[in-house]
Amino acid sequence: MLKFVKVSIRQNLKRKMLPVNGGEYVAQLTSRGKRKAAARTEERVRLRLDQQERDLDLEIQCQAMQEMLGELEESRSRYARLYDYSPVRFATFDDKGLISDVNLAGAALLGKERSLLIGSPMATFVDKDSVKPFFDHLRSCRLTGKQVITDLILSPKNAAPFPALIISFPPPGAGDYGLQYMSIIVDITERKFMEKELLRLESLNLIGEMAAGIAHEVRNPMTIVRGFIQLFTRKREFTPYEAQLNLMITELDRANAIITEYLSLAKNKPLNKSPHSLNRIVEGLMPLMESDALHSQKWIVSQLSDNIPELFLDIQEMRQLILNFVRNGLEAMLSGERLTIGTFAKGHQVVLFIQDQGTGIPPEVMSKLGTPFFTTKANGTGLGLSICYSIAHRHNAQIDVKTGDSGTTFSVNFQRP
Ligand code: ADP
Ligand code: MG
Repeated sequence: MLKFVKVSIRQNLKRKMLPVNGGEYVAQLTSRGKRKAAARTEERVRLRLDQQERDLDLEIQCQAMQEMLGELEESRSRYARLYDYSPVRFATFDDKGLISDVNLAGAALLGKERSLLIGSPMATFVDKDSVKPFFDHLRSCRLTGKQVITDLILSPKNAAPFPALIISFPPPGAGDYGLQYMSIIVDITERKFMEKELLRLESLNLIGEMAAGIAHEVRNPMTIVRGFIQLFTRKREFTPYEAQLNLMITELDRANAIITEYLSLAKNKPLNKSPHSLNRIVEGLMPLMESDALHSQKWIVSQLSDNIPELFLDIQEMRQLILNFVRNGLEAMLSGERLTIGTFAKGHQVVLFIQDQGTGIPPEVMSKLGTPFFTTKANGTGLGLSICYSIAHRHNAQIDVKTGDSGTTFSVNFQRP
């Protein structure tokens, strides 16, 4: 392009100068002296023309250079905009783990303004258990010269820690300017949640499959043993052992109750869904729950919203779900405390909530909620919440948990029909 411009300008120039060069001077001057003078004049004209041509060349080169610089600047700012405003979180680290650059999304993720982040150690935004993995990540990136991916827990300013994936690679020729690592940071909170949920559902499935078999294998012999023990209690020769025999029956009944709960996790249990009012179900259970609560001087109050529609529910399962949540709530509270059970409509959802004033759920327990057989209680079965999750799942409802020092709220979010 540049060449073409130069050639065309040069031709233009020559066309302009030819009459001066050939026409006027050479035709008029004929004698020898005059020819010499003419030759000098011609030489001067030629030199001037050369000079003009060189000046022109320079000017053209200068203009082309400016154009290229402009294009370069434009493409640079296009890439800078792309980098700055990309939803992907980019960051560059030096070999000491200091942030040398970060885009706006990356800065937002770390919870600080970009200008304040540059030069800060990335380790201050990483959970203390993830600091070593972070430096190991940079080291293995340097040693292999390849892309490295590591799971970390990031701890942004003024926000809760969250799981993240950091993908780094040394850019080509990075060593020439001191080692730099270009990284992408991905928030994987959602993915971790899904993985956990999947694991929980898988364990529920497994339990469900096992449940049907257990019913036959364990319950029948137990019924026979219980029958014989009952028979013995009526025989005079067993009178000295009456207390022990009664204890055996109580324990067998408890085992049977556990199995009944366990069986309700069965995967292919047929559902009997029909339109029901959640409020009526709660009201129907109130006397039972109140007497349970009053037994240990605790209170149950209801907050039932009038404008919630009927839902397609299996009434037996709903009763069980409510009782399980309420029992857990009561067990977590001290005498004199209050448990609230309520309903309300929220957008396309109908929410049933059970709020207690108990001790709250510590994080290590939170992460295991709903795992079959997980219990922190001496006499617990660890099946109550598993059953609740399984019932909610069968009703296409989601369970949310909010917990703190002042208590725990379990919400079951149903879709409006
Ligand atoms: P269990 O009640 O037999 O222990 P669950 O599955 O019902 O089994 O509950 C599992 C665990 O979850 C409990 O042992 C308890 O540590 C915790 N938990 C459940 N609900 C609450 C609650 N409302 N407040 C505090 N902790 C709770
Ligand atoms: Mg329980």
